[in-house]
Amino acid sequence: MNLAEDGRAALDWVVDYLDRVEDFPVLSQVQPGEIRDRLPTEPPADAEPFRNVLRDLDDVLMPGITHWQSPNYFAYFSITGSEPGILAELLIAALNNVGILWRASPALQELEEVTLDWLSQLLGLPRGWHGQLEEAASVSTLIALAAARDVKPGARVVVCSEQTHSAADKACKLLGLEVRRTPSDDEFRLVPDALDLDGACAVVATVGTTSTASVDPVAAIADACERAAVWLHVDAAYAGSAMVCPEFRWAFDGVERADSLVVNTHKWMFTPMGCSALLTRRPEDLRRAFSLVPEFLRTPDEVVSFSEYGPVLGRAFRALKLWAVLRCFGRSGLQARVREAVRLAELFEGWVDAEPGWEVCAPRHFSLVCFRRLGSDEDNERLLQRINAGGEIFMSHTRLNGRFVLRLAVGNARTEERHVRRAWDVIRSSAE
Ligand code: PLP
Repeated sequence: MNLAEDGRAALDWVVDYLDRVEDFPVLSQVQPGEIRDRLPTEPPADAEPFRNVLRDLDDVLMPGITHWQSPNYFAYFSITGSEPGILAELLIAALNNVGILWRASPALQELEEVTLDWLSQLLGLPRGWHGQLEEAASVSTLIALAAARDVKPGARVVVCSEQTHSAADKACKLLGLEVRRTPSDDEFRLVPDALDLDGACAVVATVGTTSTASVDPVAAIADACERAAVWLHVDAAYAGSAMVCPEFRWAFDGVERADSLVVNTHKWMFTPMGCSALLTRRPEDLRRAFSLVPEFLRTPDEVVSFSEYGPVLGRAFRALKLWAVLRCFGRSGLQARVREAVRLAELFEGWVDAEPGWEVCAPRHFSLVCFRRLGSDEDNERLLQRINAGGEIFMSHTRLNGRFVLRLAVGNARTEERHVRRAWDVIRSSAE
């Protein structure tokens, strides 16, 4: 393989793809098994040129790609693999460092320390918290709840709201903990007065819930947690990145009193997938829950390796991509993109609000609009199917107060006003 030549071809492919990404049907239109059937069932006996990989990416795989990089992607939470992040992924693979121990890559660990401290500063968090990067919010939450469980042996309950992401349930399932769901109010926020912390080791509060981006009252929840000596974990996987803008920091009121916090920088901080920041002011509790150093990993170095704070031994060099993004966007670049996404969502909300026959179904926070067409759930469900089958845009749904609701989540850095206008046209014409 000729790295320089094949590398240029791969980079050309990337440039061309990102130039054309808005022209692809956003949601892949293939049937289950279709892509598998087009792939050889046996591995190649002999080496093939790399150009064959690029060819088959185009010919075989592309029809099975849902275009998360498209500016017309409005489902779940939209994300962006930005240019500095993409290039940093190449460098990460080239270095191929494995952070099993500090000495296995001092730069991997120390860049992670510094980058997470930068992140804390950007989000207006207190200085001095420990931060580490994990694959996903599900892993970050698992780690936090494992620490919480060990701090309070015998207390086996995790309390959260009806709106808390299922990542908390999954963590509890793995940790042998019970989930206790507290009702939420009419704006989908956890009700602190309804908290029952009997036998609880942790509360999970959410800033930016998955269904509606509602914001739990973290300060009041922190009061209750402090009174009962219960660990407070804040899930800000989506909305945490918005704290880069001071005008949204009201949503982080009380987060400085949390024991742990998760922010997915791969969600709204333009970093390619697999980059979830776990921040804590209690790193020693994480270490007690996870540290296990076998003889073959003992070193005389007077430094604690990050692998002692979580379940994974060989840690990837994630900090390099977040560092590249933070440097190439800067605080002002991050703020500008977050503000634009929120502006576009606000604009869209206004159009829905002004249009007879449609309703906004939850207070809009950040860049997520929940809405529906007046009519039955079945009508709205069929409407969503028609919208997504058209391929021009991709949206998802949730259920609020038992009703089927459409969600339009803005967040891709390539989304402009014209894309959101077009989305509204597509939605309205699909309803006719
Ligand atoms: N928490 C919230 C609020 C989310 O919206 C999501 C995913 O969208 C998650 C947790 C789970 O994130 P991950 O896929 O990184 O595990």
